[in-house]
Amino acid sequence: MEYLTILGSTGSIGVSTLDVVARHPQRFGVVALTARSQVDLLYQQCCRFEPLYAVLLDEDAAEGLQARLLAAGASTLVLSGTSALEKVAALPEAGIVVAAIVGIAGLRATLSAARAGKKILLANKESLVTAGALFMSAVHDSGATLLPIDSEHNAIFQSMPPSSAGSLAERGVRRILLTASGGPFRTLSPARLAAVTPEEAVAHPNWVMGRKISVDSATMMNKGLEVIEAHWLFAAPPDVIEVVIHPQSVVHSLVEYCDGSVIAQLGNPDMRTPIAHALGYPQRIASGADFLDLARVGSLSFEAPDHSRFPCLRLAYDALRTGDSTVVGLNAANEVAVAEFLDRRIAYTDIPVVIEQVLEMTPARAVDSIEDVERIDRDARDLALAACAGLGAGRSARAG
Ligand code: NAD
Ligand code: MG
Repeated sequence: MEYLTILGSTGSIGVSTLDVVARHPQRFGVVALTARSQVDLLYQQCCRFEPLYAVLLDEDAAEGLQARLLAAGASTLVLSGTSALEKVAALPEAGIVVAAIVGIAGLRATLSAARAGKKILLANKESLVTAGALFMSAVHDSGATLLPIDSEHNAIFQSMPPSSAGSLAERGVRRILLTASGGPFRTLSPARLAAVTPEEAVAHPNWVMGRKISVDSATMMNKGLEVIEAHWLFAAPPDVIEVVIHPQSVVHSLVEYCDGSVIAQLGNPDMRTPIAHALGYPQRIASGADFLDLARVGSLSFEAPDHSRFPCLRLAYDALRTGDSTVVGLNAANEVAVAEFLDRRIAYTDIPVVIEQVLEMTPARAVDSIEDVERIDRDARDLALAACAGLGAGRSARAG
């Protein structure tokens, strides 16, 4: 048996992971499940998978869940708070940790799993984006294994040469091609973009995901974060990573070699495929995803991204080239701007404006500790909230 902890088990990735786990009861057991506040779903998951531990952020909510589980005869111990997340990420009972919390909120727990030498199935791209160097050195020092379950990075991982020794160029890799669907607004007239609603932005054409990553997909900040994620995962310089729009989301990404070969991974857009790939790795296990019917897909199309429509993509490339503190500022400003847009306090087209304003005020400098990352994150959040307030007030004044 292999035992796992899922950080963020009630989210889209967490639920898909448990769906795959449930298909292999002889192979996988669950040690810990965590959620921010979705008590009812966490309760159901605990009854079904009988983990040793469950974690909720809020202490009162954790006590309530503990009482319900005791009444149901379940032996799960319920913990609370962010330190409990770090604790369950490093438990000796679990060899696998699925990092599926959204945002920089997942950083400390994911890092705790890296320091404890776990096999980490990484969905929480923001932890690699904001603390890439610290995170990769923790993985290296502890002997942890890092397997990407972000579909593009999982596809790249599957398309890479078998040996990881040497640089990408030494291994014959010329380019990494990250595919992007282009999201729901790929063809919307630019004049209409200012008025799109949160409901329209989270309605992704191909994937069902959490709200934050859905908005990131619409702005293509998700692809920008993924360029940074690929940089750290595959030691790839920014110029080696290219983005190509592929609206069908069937080719999940590609690796181009110096001899002209291009190797890709294809499949239906279903996160259970990359999750099962990483859970079973190096074996292949069933995921529950439908098999790809190419004749039904019919045609696959590709186009270059339009940077004027998707300014967030350029902002992310620029931040990666500038480095450390700028990338933390980019992520923080994006998290705040997306949340403010979802709460209808700023317009969709304000998102890149907020990020750009924050980056102008965030000095570029090296980052040397997790506390330092958190400091820059806090400062950038304050700047972003002020920028949002300014934009929101400006819009109300114009509307009034
Ligand atoms: P989601 O919003 O559906 O779920 C997030 C999970 O994290 C939930 O369990 C929630 O309770 C927990 N959480 C949220 N805030 C928290 C906090 N402050 N502290 C502790 N726990 C918290 O998100 P998702 O779509 O599952 O995405 C999770 C991560 O996976 C993100 O980093 C996202 O970029 C990445 N990812 C998701 C997909 C996808 O298809 N959904 C694909 C690739 C990568
Ligand atoms: Mg992705």
